[in-house]
Formats: sequence, C-alpha cells, structure tokens
Amino acid sequence: LKRAKRSKRFELYAPGAVDNAQRRFSLETDLRRAIQRGELELHYQPLMDLETGAINGFEALARWEHPDLGFISPVDFIPVAEESGLIVPLGRWALQEAARTIADWDSRAEHELPFKISVNMSAVQMLRDDVTEAVSQAIHGAGITGDRLTIELTESAFVDDPDGAKRILESLKALDTNLAMDDFGTGYSNLAYLQKLPIDVLKIDRSFIAEMLTDRDKQAIVSTVLSLASALGMKTTAEGIESEAISDVLKSLGCSVGQGYYYAKPLTNDAAYSFLEASRAASTR
Ligand code: C2E
Ligand code: MG
Ligand code: MG
Ligand code: MG
Repeated sequence: LKRAKRSKRFELYAPGAVDNAQRRFSLETDLRRAIQRGELELHYQPLMDLETGAINGFEALARWEHPDLGFISPVDFIPVAEESGLIVPLGRWALQEAARTIADWDSRAEHELPFKISVNMSAVQMLRDDVTEAVSQAIHGAGITGDRLTIELTESAFVDDPDGAKRILESLKALDTNLAMDDFGTGYSNLAYLQKLPIDVLKIDRSFIAEMLTDRDKQAIVSTVLSLASALGMKTTAEGIESEAISDVLKSLGCSVGQGYYYAKPLTNDAAYSFLEASRAASTR
C-alpha cells in the first residue's frame, strides 16, 4: 500500500499483477462508498477579470482523497464515474455543494461579494439525469439565484443528439444560469454551430494557452477565437495561465477572464473564501 500511494496512476492503470478490470471495479466500489459517505470535496480555483483584475468567480473542482491510495485525480476518477453511472449522484452532489457554498460565503461576508461559481457537467450526466431538475433543486435548496451558477459543458454533449442537448441548454438558461463551453478547441465543433446554442462563455483549452508564447500558430488560433467570440457576443475565459507574460498577451487580445496557477491553484473552501475577501479588500483600497 505504501508503494501504491507513491505511484497511484501507475498502480491504477499499468498492467500489473491484477488486471485493469479488477482495479477499475474496486475503484468504482470505493468511489461509490466515498460519494455515499460524503468523502469527496470541492476545491475552488479563482477566475480573474482580466480587465479590472478583480475576482469574477471560481471553478469548483472535485477532489478525492482515497483512504489507501491517497489523492486520486479527477482525470482518473471522473471517467470511472461516467462508465459506472456514478456521475449522476456525483454531479448532483457537486451542484448542491457549490450552491450551498455560494449561500454560505454570502452569509459570512460583511460586504456584498458578487461572485459566481462554475460547476462541471459531464456529457454522460446530461444524458443520464434530468439535469434541469438537478440544477433547479440545487439553486432552490440553497436559496440562491440561478445567475450565481455557471455550468461548464463539453462539446461531447452535442455529438449524439444536438437538438436534445440544445433543449437542455435552453431549459438551463430558463433557470437563469450561465453556460460555458469548456476545453474549447479540443473537440470538433465550430463557432458557427456554437452560436446557435445559448452559450455565454467560451473557455479556451489550456493546451492552446500554455504554448501561446512559443507557438505562433497557437497564438493565432487563440487570437482568432477571441475576436470571433466577441463578435458573436460571447465572453471568453482562458484556462491554464501560468505566467504574467501570457496573462498580459491575453489581456491585450481582449480575453475577458483568466484562470491558472499564475493567479491561484484550486483552493480549499476556506482558503477560497479568504482569497475572495482579500481580493475585495484590495479592490476597494
Ligand atoms: P477542467 O474542467 O478543464 O478544469 C481545469 C483543470 O485545469 C483543473 O484540473 C485545474 O486544476 C487545471 N488547471 C487550472 N489552471 C492550471 C494551470 O495553470 N496549469 C495546469 N497545469 N493546470 C491548471 P483538475 O482539477 O485536475 O480537473 C481535471 C478535469 O476533471 C476538469 O477539467 C474536469 O473536466 C474534470 N472535473 C473535475 N471536477 C469535476 C466535477 O465535479 N464534475 C465533472 N463532471 N468533471 C470534473
Ligand atoms: Mg471546467
Ligand atoms: Mg476546462
Ligand atoms: Mg481542461
């Protein structure tokens, strides 16, 4: 178990003494238990308004500390959740937890802190659950308004049934939530198609942002996406900003919001609230 702790990804996926199906099965069993016992957490990564430098909101990211294996990345457990159907209870939990956090931070704050929280919604979750009802329950359960939540979708949600997906987005918009297209650039869809959907924000994938300064083609793509998005009335978020230089270029290209280690890593609930308060204090100084 000690060894497994140090090299969990290797242990989980490399062919070893136990075959992959069995590993996956036990991970699924453990994940089911973790969801039931409330052992997952949300961490919150700040989203910064590039023009004003103020905080705009946070992205909620699921975290799982396995009792034996230690920290397991969502890159590893979200696919397990999707294949097993556990994404339905996990997704509902994330929505409720994020909505409760908004209400909680609102009640703790002495001054008004206008921020939103973004929650990731898997394409599988959209197919398998009544997500409109799930979002509505989360909002009403926490006593917040829908405009405080942003739902991050991926392009894969539109592959099988674009019209069905569009109807779901329209019903989410009817709850007043904001909709963001996550990891833009990694899928197949184009802006002309997205324009037919009620998408408010395009999130440009980290793979374009990280290499922008060293790869002229990537910078050209980012620059084109930013101007088209703005022409189509969509806001833009760049993910994976790791340096001031990249932040400056994006700002000059008119990107609305920035996210990345340069500003902050995903933070625990308490640390994120402190970040929010500190950023408000700094902006009113
Ligand atoms: P994502 O939605 O694209 O989230 C952004 C990911 O980029 C996060 O990884 C975040 O920690 C990472 N990131 C942010 N800034 C930087 C940076 O400057 N440099 C680098 N190297 N990475 C950065 P994380 O937390 O490991 O999550 C990975 C993916 O797992 C997410 O990608 C999302 O697709 C999925 N995920 C996480 N939580 C949930 C959830 O609650 N529900 C669903 N359906 N998916 C989730
Ligand atoms: Mg996301
Ligand atoms: Mg993303
Ligand atoms: Mg991404």
